[in-house]
This record gives sequence, C-alpha cells and structure tokens, in this order.
Amino acid sequence: MTKTINVLFLAAEADPFVKVGGLGDVAGSLPQALRALSNDEIKLDVRLVLPHHPVVKAENLRPLEVFSLPRGDSEVAVEAFETTIHGMPVYFIDGEPIRSNGSVYSLDAKLDAEKYTFFSLAAMELPNRINWQPDVVHANDWHTALSIYGNLTKRWEENARHVAGVVTLHNLPFMGPDINGLLAAYGVKLAQTDLPDWARVMPMPLGLWASDAIVAVSPGYAGEVLTEEFGCGLHDFLQLRKETLSGILNGIDTISFDPTTDTAIGVNYDSSTIEKRAINKKLLQDRLGLALDPNIPLLAIISRMDVQKGVDLAFTALKNMKRINFQAVILGTGDPKLEESARSLQEQFPDKIKAELRFDAKLARQIYAGADMILMPSRYEPCGLAQMIAMRYGCVPVVRAVGGLKDTVKQDETGFVFEKAHHMSLVSAIKTAMKTMANSEKWQLIQRNGMLKDFSWEASARAYLDLYQTLVK
Ligand code: ADP
Repeated sequence: MTKTINVLFLAAEADPFVKVGGLGDVAGSLPQALRALSNDEIKLDVRLVLPHHPVVKAENLRPLEVFSLPRGDSEVAVEAFETTIHGMPVYFIDGEPIRSNGSVYSLDAKLDAEKYTFFSLAAMELPNRINWQPDVVHANDWHTALSIYGNLTKRWEENARHVAGVVTLHNLPFMGPDINGLLAAYGVKLAQTDLPDWARVMPMPLGLWASDAIVAVSPGYAGEVLTEEFGCGLHDFLQLRKETLSGILNGIDTISFDPTTDTAIGVNYDSSTIEKRAINKKLLQDRLGLALDPNIPLLAIISRMDVQKGVDLAFTALKNMKRINFQAVILGTGDPKLEESARSLQEQFPDKIKAELRFDAKLARQIYAGADMILMPSRYEPCGLAQMIAMRYGCVPVVRAVGGLKDTVKQDETGFVFEKAHHMSLVSAIKTAMKTMANSEKWQLIQRNGMLKDFSWEASARAYLDLYQTLVK
C-alpha cells in the first residue's frame, strides 16, 4: 500500500513566482524534487505556500477561501488563492499586511514584522480551510519559522494532533524583528523556553525552539552554527538541540544551468569538449573590453556586494597582485561602499579589471562559461550556489574553507581552498591556482572533475525525504 506524507512547505519567495535570492531557488526547486521522488511505496504530497507579495507573478490564480485572524479587539482578513505548477498545488496568502508592503524584504523591520507574522499565522490556519492536513510543516528562515512555533502552542492549547515541524536555516544571522507586541495582539502565547532572553521574541529562535528538526543548508554550516563564531548567540541553545540538527546541501537547477544547452553562452560544450570554453573566454574578453589573450588567467566574482561574501578581501587581493598578469570581472550589486570600491578598482586597473555593477543573469552565465576561476572568499557561507554553478561550467572555484564551500570544493581535485579570511590567503590560493593552470592537462582534470559532480536537487530531496520519514514514524 502506498504511504502518503503530506508536507506544507512555507517560504517567503519561490521561483518562478517571486525570486529575490537563493531562498527563491531552493523553494522553487526542492518541493518539486520531493514530489518527483514519489513511487509505489511512498507518495510525497508537498504543497507550497507563499505570501501574495504585490510583485508576485502568478497566472490562473483561483480564489480559495476568505477567513480572518483575530487581532486585538478586531480581526484581519486573510484571502487564500490557489494555482498549480507542474501538478503541485501552490497557495498564496494575501491580506492588508502583505498588500501594504511593496517589497519582498523591506528595509523597514516593522513592515516585515507585520507581514511575516500575519503570513506565518495565516499559513498555519490554511490546512483547516482546505481540508488537507499536513504531516510535516517545513518552514524556511525567519519569515516562516513562526508557523512552527504557532503549531506547537496551538497543539498545547487545543490538544491538536502532532504535526512535525522542520526549519531549514539558510541564513542564521537574520532572525527577524522583535514581535513580542504582535504575538500578544494575535493571541499567541509566549512559552517558557531555554532560549536566551533576547531571542525569546524573535521568529527564527522561536521556530527553532519549537521544531522537531533543524536543517542547515550544508553539513559544514550545521557544524559551524554550534560554535560561538557562527552561532550568532544561539550556539549554546543549538548545542542542546544537536541531536535534531543536520546539514543537507542545497542543489542547483541542473537543467537550467547546463553548458551543453545554455542558450545564453556563445558555444555549448561538455566535459569532453572543455577546450571549446576558449571561444567563450574570448567572447567574454571582447564583451568586457579586455585583451583577447587566451593565456591570461581571467578571474571572476559573481556575488552580492556584501561583507558576508568577503568581496572586500577579494578587492584587496586583486590590488595586491600588481605584478601578476591577470584579468578580472566583478559582477554584482549591493552595498554602495563595496560597489564604489569595485568601481575604483576598475579605474586604477582599466586594462585588467572590469566592474559590472548590476544584476545580469545572462552575463553571469557567460562568465561561468568563459572565466577561468571564480573567487569566493566568504566570511560565512551557509551553502553557496555560485561555486556549484561555476563547477558545472568548468570555471574553477577558489574558495574559503567555510560552510558549504568547504563541503563542495576539494583542494586540487575540484578547486582551491584557503583557510583564513585574509586577502593574502586568497592571493596565495590564486597563485597556486594560476600555477596549476599553466599545466593544461592538470587544469582540465580539475575542470572535468567539477563538471562531473552531481549537484542536482535529487540528492538533497532524498535526504529531506529520509528526515520526513523519521519524523512521521
Ligand atoms: P547568496 O548568498 O547571494 O544566495 P549564492 O552563491 O548562494 O549566494 O547564490 C547567488 C546566486 O545569485 C548565484 O546563482 C549567482 O550566479 C547569482 N548572482 C549573484 N549576483 C549576481 C549578479 N549581479 N548578476 C547575476 N547573477 C548574480
């Protein structure tokens, strides 16, 4: 007989409806990958719930239900809509706190507190309205973690059945705002927790506390959040929950990111025709206005301009490589100060360094397909997608040994790895990589090894399925 596991998957964003960052990739891919694992023995009925942000693009939305959440002396109306994508039901929650906040993530913490508290509590209510009960509620990051807490307190109050709660940690430092007042307004009780005082009123810690399982987006990050350096003040609490904490590496969309079919790049190639990358390198050099020299190492940075990503270390490293023959392209947007540093680097080294300060998915693909190396000197990196995409395109990663970078890139096998968050450590790793590059046979082997790695979602989905199965036993 087929066993069914119902999973309600909650996220602030999911491709193709709304995507701001890596979470959108994950929530766009993982639920589908999970459903695809269904077979004669097990059926995974995974359904996605998203806020109906004003920027959401969704076709054929069907109105589903209108209900309300009590708030103080009055109530807030919730409108639920439904659509399907590749057969998967996707629910959208709308209401005043979502309509009135134009961006997915606002700079105004108060607006986001209102939106995501409302969303998490409304999403929790949704199953009752659609006559479909989840066995697992899977929340992602602080925006939806409150659902897990709400489910637990509701179970206590109403003696409701146990629904397993999973929280995936994509970025621990973002724990959400103080929602103490909102919890009181919505009538959600504050439980006695073993959280630090400051964390007791924040959605992420409350969700972690109430969860049955905590998943970090790489095994490396799962280990790191237990330490003072990366635990953001929750390391002692997470140590106590160590038994429920695991790491499952994110995947990448291996159909979209495929050098054999990618239409954004000049020439398609695979691991047996790596030499064709030289044409893409030349096209890229031409597009960027760099000398058309096949032998100069072309280094790339494709990243949010953020200190988390260590792009400042990379800039200082490039500045310190005056006597080395190289070219570099920086593609990114973000912190205006870092953008300014990138611009000034380009001014200082106009023949060598190009700064493209915008979001440009097509150029990113051309860089992956043409550059020799990608630099990722992150200060912390829960998983990191860019190094996996780069490897798939034979662009060799030079990364700091941190989080998911440490898990996915192996020294001399698929890339180059350094330990210290210091620009000289990066310089030294780049020099080692350049030396290796001079030996084209050895270099191609590293490229090929990376291209042949399996970074598909299927492997991640299997690990999540195992987890769900242990939780619903
Ligand atoms: P993050 O912490 O930003 O989620 P990841 O490495 O996990 O970092 O994912 C970043 C993704 O965004 C990668 O797919 C990368 O190619 C893409 N990206 C980052 N900056 C840009 C940009 N300026 N233009 C195009 N793509 C970008």
